Amino acid sequence: MFKKILDMIYPEGIKCIVCNDDIVKNNTHMLCDNCLIHLPFTKEKVCVKCGRNITGKGEYCLDCKRTKRYFTKAIAPLWYKGEVVKLIHKLKYGNARYLAKPLAFILYDKVKAEKINFDVIIPVPICDKRLKERGYNQSLLIAMELAKLCKKPLLEEVLIRTKDTDTQTNLTKKERNENLVDAFKVVDKKPIKDKTILLIDDVLTTGATANNCCIKLLDAKCKEIYVATIARTPYEPFKDVYKALNMAKELEKLTF
Ligand SMILES: [Zn+2]
Ligand SMILES: [Zn+2]
Repeated sequence: MFKKILDMIYPEGIKCIVCNDDIVKNNTHMLCDNCLIHLPFTKEKVCVKCGRNITGKGEYCLDCKRTKRYFTKAIAPLWYKGEVVKLIHKLKYGNARYLAKPLAFILYDKVKAEKINFDVIIPVPICDKRLKERGYNQSLLIAMELAKLCKKPLLEEVLIRTKDTDTQTNLTKKERNENLVDAFKVVDKKPIKDKTILLIDDVLTTGATANNCCIKLLDAKCKEIYVATIARTPYEPFKDVYKALNMAKELEKLTF
Protein backbone atom coordinates (compact mmCIF):
# COMPACT_ATOMS: atom_id res chain seq x y z
CA MET A 1 0.00 0.00 0.00
CA PHE A 2 2.75 2.43 1.04
CA LYS A 3 4.66 1.59 -2.13
CA LYS A 4 1.55 2.32 -4.19
CA ILE A 5 1.21 5.77 -2.62
CA LEU A 6 4.88 6.46 -3.27
CA ASP A 7 4.39 5.44 -6.89
CA MET A 8 1.61 7.97 -7.20
CA ILE A 9 3.66 10.80 -5.72
CA TYR A 10 6.85 9.99 -7.60
CA PRO A 11 5.96 8.26 -10.86
CA GLU A 12 8.35 5.68 -12.30
CA GLY A 13 10.87 6.86 -14.86
CA ILE A 14 11.25 10.51 -13.90
CA LYS A 15 14.15 12.36 -15.47
CA CYS A 16 16.84 14.65 -14.10
CA ILE A 17 15.76 18.25 -14.77
CA VAL A 18 19.26 19.19 -15.94
CA CYS A 19 20.69 16.25 -17.96
CA ASN A 20 17.48 14.30 -18.63
CA ASP A 21 18.96 11.04 -17.28
CA ASP A 22 16.65 8.58 -15.55
CA ILE A 23 16.67 8.96 -11.79
CA VAL A 24 15.25 7.04 -8.86
CA LYS A 25 11.62 7.73 -8.27
CA ASN A 26 11.84 9.03 -4.71
CA ASN A 27 14.22 11.82 -5.68
CA THR A 28 12.34 14.94 -4.52
CA HIS A 29 14.73 17.40 -6.15
CA MET A 30 14.45 15.67 -9.55
CA LEU A 31 18.21 15.91 -10.00
CA CYS A 32 20.68 13.08 -10.57
CA ASP A 33 23.60 12.87 -8.10
CA ASN A 34 26.04 14.21 -10.66
CA CYS A 35 24.00 17.31 -11.54
CA LEU A 36 23.20 17.96 -7.87
CA ILE A 37 26.94 18.08 -7.06
CA HIS A 38 27.68 20.40 -9.96
CA LEU A 39 24.93 22.96 -9.43
CA PRO A 40 26.37 26.33 -8.29
CA PHE A 41 25.13 26.41 -4.69
CA THR A 42 25.77 29.63 -2.74
CA LYS A 43 28.40 28.29 -0.35
CA GLU A 44 30.74 31.31 -0.44
CA LYS A 45 30.77 34.14 2.08
CA VAL A 46 27.84 36.41 1.21
CA CYS A 47 26.51 39.82 2.22
CA VAL A 48 24.32 39.34 5.32
CA LYS A 49 21.67 41.59 3.76
CA CYS A 50 21.34 40.75 0.07
CA GLY A 51 23.14 37.40 -0.30
CA ARG A 52 25.67 38.58 -2.89
CA ASN A 53 29.16 37.05 -2.66
CA ILE A 54 31.74 39.21 -0.89
CA THR A 55 35.38 38.89 0.07
CA GLY A 56 37.32 40.42 2.95
CA LYS A 57 36.27 41.21 6.47
CA GLY A 58 33.05 43.24 6.12
CA GLU A 59 29.54 41.84 6.47
CA TYR A 60 27.84 43.97 3.81
CA CYS A 61 28.42 44.37 0.08
CA LEU A 62 29.04 47.81 -1.45
CA ASP A 63 25.48 48.00 -2.79
CA CYS A 64 23.96 47.41 0.64
CA LYS A 65 26.26 50.02 2.18
CA ARG A 66 25.06 52.54 -0.39
CA THR A 67 21.40 51.57 -0.91
CA LYS A 68 18.65 51.24 1.66
CA ARG A 69 17.21 47.75 1.66
CA TYR A 70 13.67 47.45 2.95
CA PHE A 71 13.88 43.70 3.53
CA THR A 72 15.49 42.15 6.61
CA LYS A 73 17.47 39.63 4.60
CA ALA A 74 17.51 38.05 1.14
CA ILE A 75 18.47 34.40 0.70
CA ALA A 76 19.02 32.19 -2.36
CA PRO A 77 20.31 28.60 -2.60
CA LEU A 78 21.87 28.97 -6.07
CA TRP A 79 23.94 31.40 -8.12
CA TYR A 80 22.30 32.64 -11.28
CA LYS A 81 24.75 31.10 -13.73
CA GLY A 82 25.28 28.06 -15.96
CA GLU A 83 22.56 25.42 -15.71
CA VAL A 84 20.58 27.53 -13.23
CA VAL A 85 20.06 30.24 -15.87
CA LYS A 86 18.76 27.58 -18.28
CA LEU A 87 16.39 26.09 -15.67
CA ILE A 88 14.94 29.46 -14.72
CA HIS A 89 14.52 30.46 -18.36
CA LYS A 90 12.66 27.21 -19.01
CA LEU A 91 10.40 27.84 -16.03
CA LYS A 92 9.83 31.46 -16.92
CA TYR A 93 9.54 31.46 -20.70
CA GLY A 94 9.38 27.81 -21.75
CA ASN A 95 6.16 26.75 -20.03
CA ALA A 96 8.15 24.24 -17.92
CA ARG A 97 5.83 24.57 -14.93
CA TYR A 98 6.94 21.16 -13.58
CA LEU A 99 10.25 22.81 -12.60
CA ALA A 100 8.59 24.84 -9.85
CA LYS A 101 8.36 21.80 -7.59
CA PRO A 102 11.99 20.60 -7.59
CA LEU A 103 13.25 24.21 -7.44
CA ALA A 104 10.95 24.88 -4.47
CA PHE A 105 12.49 21.85 -2.73
CA ILE A 106 15.96 23.39 -3.15
CA LEU A 107 14.64 26.71 -1.81
CA TYR A 108 12.96 24.93 1.11
CA ASP A 109 16.31 23.43 2.14
CA LYS A 110 17.78 26.93 2.18
CA VAL A 111 14.88 28.44 4.19
CA LYS A 112 15.37 25.69 6.78
CA ALA A 113 19.17 26.08 6.85
CA GLU A 114 18.85 29.84 7.38
CA LYS A 115 16.27 29.26 10.16
CA ILE A 116 13.96 31.91 8.74
CA ASN A 117 10.82 32.35 10.84
CA PHE A 118 7.87 33.82 9.00
CA ASP A 119 4.07 33.84 9.06
CA VAL A 120 2.93 34.09 5.44
CA ILE A 121 4.26 33.59 1.91
CA ILE A 122 3.72 36.18 -0.85
CA PRO A 123 4.96 35.83 -4.44
CA VAL A 124 6.28 38.81 -6.42
CA PRO A 125 3.34 39.43 -8.77
CA ILE A 126 3.39 40.00 -12.53
CA CYS A 127 1.01 42.37 -14.32
CA ASP A 128 -2.16 41.18 -16.10
CA LYS A 129 -0.70 41.67 -19.58
CA ARG A 130 2.30 39.45 -18.80
CA LEU A 131 0.04 36.89 -17.11
CA LYS A 132 -2.10 36.65 -20.23
CA GLU A 133 0.95 36.18 -22.46
CA ARG A 134 2.72 33.63 -20.28
CA GLY A 135 -0.32 31.97 -18.77
CA TYR A 136 1.19 31.78 -15.31
CA ASN A 137 3.37 33.60 -12.80
CA GLN A 138 6.52 31.55 -12.16
CA SER A 139 7.02 33.11 -8.72
CA LEU A 140 3.51 32.07 -7.72
CA LEU A 141 4.20 28.49 -8.85
CA ILE A 142 7.33 28.38 -6.66
CA ALA A 143 5.49 30.05 -3.75
CA MET A 144 2.64 27.50 -3.97
CA GLU A 145 5.04 24.58 -3.72
CA LEU A 146 7.03 26.23 -0.93
CA ALA A 147 3.88 27.02 1.05
CA LYS A 148 2.99 23.31 0.97
CA LEU A 149 6.46 22.31 2.15
CA CYS A 150 6.64 24.96 4.91
CA LYS A 151 2.96 24.48 5.83
CA LYS A 152 2.42 28.24 5.82
CA PRO A 153 -0.42 30.25 4.28
CA LEU A 154 0.07 31.56 0.76
CA LEU A 155 -1.36 35.03 0.13
CA GLU A 156 -1.58 35.37 -3.63
CA GLU A 157 -4.01 38.26 -3.87
CA VAL A 158 -2.57 40.74 -1.38
CA LEU A 159 0.15 42.30 -3.52
CA ILE A 160 -0.51 43.13 -7.18
CA ARG A 161 1.59 44.57 -10.00
CA THR A 162 0.02 47.46 -11.85
CA LYS A 163 2.89 48.19 -14.25
CA ASP A 164 4.99 45.92 -16.41
CA THR A 165 8.64 46.42 -15.63
CA ASP A 166 9.98 43.07 -16.82
CA THR A 167 11.35 44.17 -20.15
CA GLN A 168 13.70 46.89 -19.03
CA THR A 169 17.06 45.25 -19.50
CA ASN A 170 18.36 48.22 -21.51
CA LEU A 171 17.73 50.67 -18.71
CA THR A 172 20.28 51.81 -16.16
CA LYS A 173 19.88 50.93 -12.50
CA LYS A 174 18.54 54.41 -11.73
CA GLU A 175 16.03 54.29 -14.59
CA ARG A 176 14.91 50.79 -13.57
CA ASN A 177 14.35 52.03 -10.05
CA GLU A 178 12.34 55.03 -11.14
CA ASN A 179 10.24 52.79 -13.34
CA LEU A 180 9.53 50.43 -10.47
CA VAL A 181 8.16 53.07 -8.13
CA ASP A 182 4.43 52.45 -7.82
CA ALA A 183 4.55 49.33 -9.97
CA PHE A 184 3.21 47.41 -6.96
CA LYS A 185 0.15 47.85 -4.80
CA VAL A 186 -1.21 46.19 -1.66
CA VAL A 187 -4.91 45.59 -2.20
CA ASP A 188 -5.67 43.81 1.09
CA LYS A 189 -3.85 45.05 4.18
CA LYS A 190 -5.58 42.96 6.83
CA PRO A 191 -3.90 39.56 6.31
CA ILE A 192 -0.38 41.02 6.57
CA LYS A 193 -0.79 43.37 9.54
CA ASP A 194 2.10 42.74 12.03
CA LYS A 195 3.08 39.64 10.06
CA THR A 196 6.53 38.50 8.98
CA ILE A 197 6.43 37.88 5.25
CA LEU A 198 8.51 35.57 3.06
CA LEU A 199 8.54 37.23 -0.37
CA ILE A 200 9.23 34.83 -3.24
CA ASP A 201 10.78 35.52 -6.64
CA ASP A 202 12.78 33.49 -9.15
CA VAL A 203 15.95 35.61 -9.25
CA LEU A 204 17.34 38.48 -7.21
CA THR A 205 19.39 40.77 -9.42
CA THR A 206 19.76 44.37 -8.24
CA GLY A 207 17.15 43.86 -5.55
CA ALA A 208 15.11 46.79 -6.88
CA THR A 209 11.97 44.73 -7.55
CA ALA A 210 12.05 43.18 -4.07
CA ASN A 211 12.78 46.55 -2.50
CA ASN A 212 9.77 48.18 -4.12
CA CYS A 213 7.47 45.32 -3.08
CA CYS A 214 8.81 45.71 0.46
CA ILE A 215 8.14 49.46 0.54
CA LYS A 216 4.48 48.78 -0.22
CA LEU A 217 4.22 45.86 2.21
CA LEU A 218 5.78 47.93 5.02
CA ASP A 219 3.44 50.82 4.19
CA ALA A 220 0.61 48.35 4.73
CA LYS A 221 1.99 47.71 8.25
CA CYS A 222 3.49 44.26 7.98
CA LYS A 223 6.19 43.56 10.57
CA GLU A 224 9.16 42.66 8.36
CA ILE A 225 10.02 40.89 5.12
CA TYR A 226 12.49 38.19 4.16
CA VAL A 227 13.15 37.65 0.48
CA ALA A 228 13.74 34.12 -0.84
CA THR A 229 14.67 33.51 -4.47
CA ILE A 230 15.84 30.40 -6.30
CA ALA A 231 18.94 32.20 -7.53
CA ARG A 232 21.06 35.28 -6.90
CA THR A 233 23.19 37.01 -9.53
CA PRO A 234 26.78 36.75 -8.33
CA TYR A 235 29.25 39.61 -8.21
CA GLU A 236 31.79 38.86 -10.93
CA PRO A 237 34.39 41.65 -10.96
CA PHE A 238 36.35 40.26 -13.91
CA LYS A 239 33.24 40.02 -16.03
CA ASP A 240 32.41 43.65 -15.23
CA VAL A 241 35.94 44.83 -16.07
CA TYR A 242 35.77 42.90 -19.35
CA LYS A 243 32.42 44.51 -20.15
CA ALA A 244 33.80 47.98 -19.38
CA LEU A 245 36.86 47.36 -21.58
CA ASN A 246 34.68 46.26 -24.47
CA MET A 247 32.48 49.30 -24.02
CA ALA A 248 35.55 51.55 -24.05
CA LYS A 249 36.72 49.91 -27.28
CA GLU A 250 33.33 50.51 -28.90
CA LEU A 251 33.37 54.13 -27.79
CA GLU A 252 36.83 54.58 -29.25
CA LYS A 253 35.53 53.34 -32.62
CA LEU A 254 32.74 55.87 -32.48
CA THR A 255 34.78 58.90 -31.50
CA PHE A 256 37.94 58.43 -33.54
ZN1 LIG B 1 21.45 15.06 -14.15
ZN1 LIG C 1 24.43 43.26 0.01
